[in-house]
Parts: sequence; structure tokens; C-alpha cells
Amino acid sequence: MKKLSMKQQYHVMTRDLDWDPTYVERNQIYPYLEFEGIKVHDWEAWEDPFRLTMASYYKYQAEKDRRLYAVLESFEQNQSHLRLSDGRYINNMKVFLSGLTPVEYAAHRQFAFLARHLGGPAPRFSALLQSIDELRHAQTQLHTFNLYNKYYDGFDNFRHLFDRIWYLAVTKSYIEDAMTAGPFESLIALSFSLEYMLTNLLFVPYMSGANFNGDAATTTMGFSSQSDESRHMTLGLEVIKFLLEQDEANVPIIQDWVDKWFWRGYRVMALVSVLMDYMLPTPFMSWKESFELYFEQQMLDGLFPDLEYYGLTRPRHVDIAIAEKDHYSSNVYWALYQWNYVTAFHTWTPSDAHLDWLSSKYPDTFDRYHRPKWEKAKRIAEGGGRYYNPSVAPQCQVCVIPPVFTEPGDPTRLSVRISEYKGDRYVLCSDGCQWIFEREPEKYIQAPMPTNQLYRGNLGGPTIPEVVAWFGIDEGVQNHDYLMSGDARSWEEWHATGSLIGGK
Ligand code: FE
Ligand code: ZN
Repeated sequence: MKKLSMKQQYHVMTRDLDWDPTYVERNQIYPYLEFEGIKVHDWEAWEDPFRLTMASYYKYQAEKDRRLYAVLESFEQNQSHLRLSDGRYINNMKVFLSGLTPVEYAAHRQFAFLARHLGGPAPRFSALLQSIDELRHAQTQLHTFNLYNKYYDGFDNFRHLFDRIWYLAVTKSYIEDAMTAGPFESLIALSFSLEYMLTNLLFVPYMSGANFNGDAATTTMGFSSQSDESRHMTLGLEVIKFLLEQDEANVPIIQDWVDKWFWRGYRVMALVSVLMDYMLPTPFMSWKESFELYFEQQMLDGLFPDLEYYGLTRPRHVDIAIAEKDHYSSNVYWALYQWNYVTAFHTWTPSDAHLDWLSSKYPDTFDRYHRPKWEKAKRIAEGGGRYYNPSVAPQCQVCVIPPVFTEPGDPTRLSVRISEYKGDRYVLCSDGCQWIFEREPEKYIQAPMPTNQLYRGNLGGPTIPEVVAWFGIDEGVQNHDYLMSGDARSWEEWHATGSLIGGK
């Protein structure tokens, strides 16, 4: 038999397996393709840029896994967690595991759905590969954090936390919003907005942060995922160009989705801003620098001029994100710090050296608007106390973050918006979230806000200890200040003895 070229092999083994139905209607097989208003005239025009067959895909992925698990094994055998920059660092990984890993798993399910329901064989096939990628990401993350679970608190209950805890409702709501949208909107949400527009902002800081803080396990896991990510990014770009080219009537629909999912994705990045500016013991790049490089330069100046050719403009509300970049991380970390009694990870008062680093990265604003709060928290800590906010805040009906952001242009005023719908009032954190809410109020009024549920008695009971228990937080172990934690005691002990033998 004559040997086939790679491209011929790909066609024979994937898209050529497609057939035209004879005894059922096409829309019975693909019932989800029309209700969003998107028009596709020619599914054959969709090119899968990777042209991988199943056999070659599994070969590549198996090789990546072999390399990753070799690193994880040696990391564990050498007790390399003891050489992290500091015990505080591990809290970033608690947030990652409880907030992002379940999202990877959910993305696996969503891409499996798309692999069944998209109208052409090439996009179905790329969705299938991405579905398997996302499952692999969830698995490699679990294996990576499994190492830490042996020595540190806060890793053992992540799935329960994801479904219940207030700050994890942020990522949960993001992915569930995408999964309950139609297939095309979910593609714009996940493939374009998250995987293309915002992925560098999410992954590069996490992995460089891990690297700068001595975490070879997470760095390797990250690069292993990132190599799939480049395929996902190409898919994200292919999706948007394909849909824009298919019909002019698609353009305004897609613009709305880009506007919505930029803002939703950007709000999820609030957690990343905190990681970069506050929670890495050895910081390496500020949120502002990263936002300017990976978003303003690469996306706004790099990508959007190209998309203008199709009639697409910059995301709505992007100027608010630019205006608040000096305050984003400080507002959010202050919230996590003051409500640390209801989180399953530790926070801490930044050291003087860290405050100086923040001043140098935010020279126009930090000393004036944020440093005084930390000086006050430090005075309270020096007197043996800990600053907490005992009151319960409402949450934004869209992004589910309490309204802790400030007005763009006035960092002394909290940004709060109220929308009325069918006689009820809803709290929104920003013009961005308000716009999203008012476009689809019927969808967002169904979101069970943790605070509202608390007042209805649905979070385990009316007292803080009951709510903490219902969330799944191990009181006095997983929450409160790092200085009071078992993690801190273990860290000190292991390093004081010099024996470098860990163990809970
Ligand atoms: Fe992933
Ligand atoms: Zn919001």
C-alpha cells in the first residue's frame, strides 16, 4: 500500500469518517446549532490547524506525562517542598487546586459536549482533543498537589469547597455560566476569551511565580499544560475568525459575547492579581506589569486591530480594567485578609520589604491609598490581635465577588451598582457586571448568592462556626493568619532541626 502523507492520514482517520445522514434530519442530530442566531454556511471551511490523528495525539501526550511524572517523583523523593521560598507560598497552590482544577474538569465536560454537537467534523475533532487535554490537566494538577497534601493543610477537601465556599463561587459561576450558554457562546467564552485573550495572564504568572519560588513540581505541571494551551489558543483564534467570516449577521452577536466574556474572565483574574502582588513570597512581576504586557500590548494593541477588519471592536468596559489596574490586587487581597476566618487558606500581613516592593511597582498610588491599611493591620498584629471584618458583605450577582472594587478614577469610593428586576434589587460590583446582568437578568437572578443563602439559614446555621463548618473549612487549621497556622509551625520546625524531614 502506498504510504499516505501526514495530511492524508489525518483526513482519512478524522474528518473523512464523517457522513451525510440519510434517514434523519441534520437538525435532529445537531439540535443546538440554531437558537443562538449564529449562521454557519460552510462547516468545511473550518481548518483544524493541528491535524493530529488519535494515534499521534496519544503518543505526544504520553511522552509529556512521562516527563512530568518523573519530575514529580524526584520532587517528592528529595523532599523538595522544603526548599520552597517560604511556607506561605503553598497557599497559592491551595487557591489553584480548589478554584481552578474543578474548572479544568468542567471544561473537559464542556468540550466533550462540543465534540458531540458542533456541526462540522474538524471542529468536533479539535473539541474532542481539547476535552481529553482538560481531563489530563485536572489529573496532573491533582497529582502535583497530592505531594503538598502530605505536608500542608487545606488540600484534602477541594471538591467540597468548590461547591460551597463563597470565594470559589467566583470560578464556579464563571464556568457554569459558560456551560449553560449555547455551544457558540461557550466557545467564545472558553476558547477565545479564556484560552486566547486571557490565558497568558493566567498561566504565565502562575508558572513563573512557581519557578521563582522554587516549585519545580508546579512549574513542570504548568509547562506540560501550557504545551496543550498553544493548541487551544490556535483553536480560540480559529473559532472567532471562522464565525466572523461565515456571516456578517454573526458580528454583533459575537461582539456581545466578547464584551461579556472579557469582563467575566477579567474578574476571575482578580485572584491572579492577588497571587502576583501579595501571595508570592518572592514576587517577580506586578499585576500591573503583567496586565500591560499580556493584555494591553499583546491583545489590545496586537490582536484587536486585526479583528477590526471583521468589524469587531475592543471589549466594552476594557477602560475600567485599565483604570483600576493600580488598585485591583490591593482591594481584593484586603478582602481575603479581612475575611480570612471564612477561607480555606491563610493570608498574612505583608512584610516591610514586600510593602516597599509594592510601593516601587505602584509608585503613584500604593503609599497613598493602600499602605496605610497595612500599617494599621500591622499595629493590631503587634498588639497581639488580628484585623478581621466581622460583617457579612453582599456579592455581585454576576461575578460573585463582594463589591470591594473602587470607582475608576476615585480609589476612595467603593464601586456598587444596583439593578432592579421584577421588583427585587440586585447588587453589582461594576458597570461591567451590571451590563452583563441587565442583558440576561433571567439567567443571573437564579444564581444562589452565598450571602443571601446565609440569611435564609441555608449555610448550615446562623452563626459563624456553623457556616465555617458547612463550607467545609477545618476551623483553626485551614483558615486564619499564616502566623497562627500549623503550616507555619511545621515549616519552622523542619527548618530549625535542619534534618529536612517533613511529615504532618
Ligand atoms: Fe486546561
Ligand atoms: Zn461583579
